[in-house]
Amino acid sequence: MSLHNDNWFTEANEQTGIAFSLRLTKKLHEEQSPYQLITIYDTKEFGKLMALDGLYMVTDRDNFIYHEMMSHTALFAHPNPRTVVIIGGGDCGTLREVLKHPTVEHAIQIEIDERVTRVSEQYFPVLCESNHDPRAQLLFEDGIKWMAAAADQSCDVIIIDSTDPIGPAEGLFNEKFYRECRRVLATDGILIQQSESPLLHLPLLKSIHTAMRKAGFTATRTLHFPQCIYPSGWWSATLASHEDVTQFRVNSTPSFDTRYYNAQIHTASFALPTFVTETLRDCENTPQLSE
Ligand code: SAM
Repeated sequence: MSLHNDNWFTEANEQTGIAFSLRLTKKLHEEQSPYQLITIYDTKEFGKLMALDGLYMVTDRDNFIYHEMMSHTALFAHPNPRTVVIIGGGDCGTLREVLKHPTVEHAIQIEIDERVTRVSEQYFPVLCESNHDPRAQLLFEDGIKWMAAAADQSCDVIIIDSTDPIGPAEGLFNEKFYRECRRVLATDGILIQQSESPLLHLPLLKSIHTAMRKAGFTATRTLHFPQCIYPSGWWSATLASHEDVTQFRVNSTPSFDTRYYNAQIHTASFALPTFVTETLRDCENTPQLSE
């Protein structure tokens, strides 16, 4: 739920009893797309802000943390990422980071709501600067349907950069969808999904690990990073692969500039607090249902 008076935009979350506010200078745009309410504000300290259905999505000031951690951890853990699939990602910040990797030959982004991308092109042009890269393919459809129709072993990395597991994104957080991702990934492929807050959403985090393992992934690991505008300011992503060998260790280091990600952060981000490791411990013994 969002509240805003003339000066503040507040995302208030009834379930967690948490609210976060940014001081506004003005509202720049608002429209109801076929999927969600898209609002753009100018803020006093965080630059431009995009909200979807009243929930913080992206700001000029802190989006680099999320977009770098959602892309470089998986791509630098993979030996040779050439084809990358992004589900969601409509603001295009993740796509921009993926295309910084010289090994990437094809980056396919499947975003259900074209209006998110068109509005982002207008208000977040830097995030969209790679949209016309010849390696980029922007599709506007349901990622669930796209994955079900995708060819076996046809990509190296899948990045699920979706909204919270409600509405159209709900079907991106279950065993059925992870099975399709596993089929579409090459045998050394890596899946990474934004997996909400370790502090506020631990049961969901556990269910993601359990569902990924039931879907046949043999290695699942969560990393974490700060993300000021999301509930609790502490966010996570969960990686999965067929083979334990990678354990998602960093394979190589950036030949391009980053502002948050580096090899030390890569390694350190997988170090989890005790309350999280204790919750996730028995996921490792999740029986994998037969094919
Ligand atoms: N960084 C944000 C976060 O962590 O909440 C997500 C960024 S991006 C704006 C999220 C996108 O996922 C939205 O544009 C939304 O339209 C898209 N999305 C939700 N469900 C989808 C689905 N089933 N297929 C494709 N895109 C979907």
